[in-house]
Amino acid sequence: MYKNINIPQISTSKINLLDLNRKNLNTFLISLGAKKFATKQIMNWIYNHYSNNFDNMFNISMQIRNKLYKKSVIFASKFIEERISNDGTIKWITDINHQKIETVYIPEKKRATLCVSSQIGCALKCHFCATGQKKFQRNLKVSEIIAQIWQANKTLKKKNINNRITNIVFMGMGEPLLNLNNVVTALQIILDEYGFGLSKRRITLSTSGIVPALDKLRKMVDICLAISLHAPNDDIRNLIMPINKKYNINCVLNSAKKYIQYSYANRNGITIEYVMLKNINDSNNNAKQLAHLLKNIPSKINLIPWNSFLGSSFICSNINRINMFANILRDKGFTVMIRKNRGKDINAACGQLTGSKIINIINT
Ligand code: SAH
Ligand code: SF4
Repeated sequence: MYKNINIPQISTSKINLLDLNRKNLNTFLISLGAKKFATKQIMNWIYNHYSNNFDNMFNISMQIRNKLYKKSVIFASKFIEERISNDGTIKWITDINHQKIETVYIPEKKRATLCVSSQIGCALKCHFCATGQKKFQRNLKVSEIIAQIWQANKTLKKKNINNRITNIVFMGMGEPLLNLNNVVTALQIILDEYGFGLSKRRITLSTSGIVPALDKLRKMVDICLAISLHAPNDDIRNLIMPINKKYNINCVLNSAKKYIQYSYANRNGITIEYVMLKNINDSNNNAKQLAHLLKNIPSKINLIPWNSFLGSSFICSNINRINMFANILRDKGFTVMIRKNRGKDINAACGQLTGSKIINIINT
């Protein structure tokens, strides 16, 4: 199913309140002369009632509302396109000054996950990833990250879909740790009880391992961590992920280990993501090497069947190989999941997000 929604965008030089975490909103409101409790009241209007109209905020004084009008907006970029998969997955496209980002809603029986983008394109160019084949444009602002969740919740409500977002994963377009400050502020709003109010155990940040940023992250915010490892040794990782030449497996895993030590969200271990590429990283020997590599890292392993895209020459490992690989790891005591392919028919699966309509699926 495909629907095109044509909505014009506005541009403004005023402060967008969706760019501010509670602390910064508080500072801004105090500068306008508002009382301290106005911060929670306004956050309640924004994140609970999904209001972007100061007129409706009857519990805020007229004087403060007038000042808010003059100096600020509540602006969430709108979805311009929607695609609904046969399996219920929904992909939304946002147009940001003629560049596109994607957000994916993945409903399951008892939960629903929203996969958000953190950048337009990605500079890291992992060879197996469609996003990486697109030119990197820029980091998303806090408000552009928050708008994805805000609009998704609003849209689901409008559609009377009761399976509301329970989990958020930073697994859309871009490398979140290369947009560290904006991603952390967005995470603070997601975690805030007056923001989206999600628990740290329900928010996952996936990274290819930008070590200096990961080292900083543990002092900034506690959320579930997923490491895109994808290889059991540096030779293979160098082949498929150019960033490994800068931050190799050893330094990524050491930094992840430190994150775990300081983290409550990861007290049962982090997630290790491993994309299954035929004849590249999927042999029995590779599984044994991976088990050895992770023996001191509290982790569960997520095997991801590779999703193909036009122009790529990788082949996804077949399901027997993936099962065999998983069983070797399980025999060694690891918890292993094989990621389900969701939204493949609408190009919404992992690594298929490019913000364009033209990438087609080649069956694997
Ligand atoms: N940049 C971050 C987050 C976005 S990618 C990262 O790399 O972790 C989210 C996940 O999808 C990552 O584990 C990524 O390696 C994986 N992925 C990328 N392309 C894929 C593809 N074509 N098939 C399956 N998984 C893919
Ligand atoms: Fe960027 Fe992640 Fe894709 Fe690599 S896998 S190119 S880091 S989005």
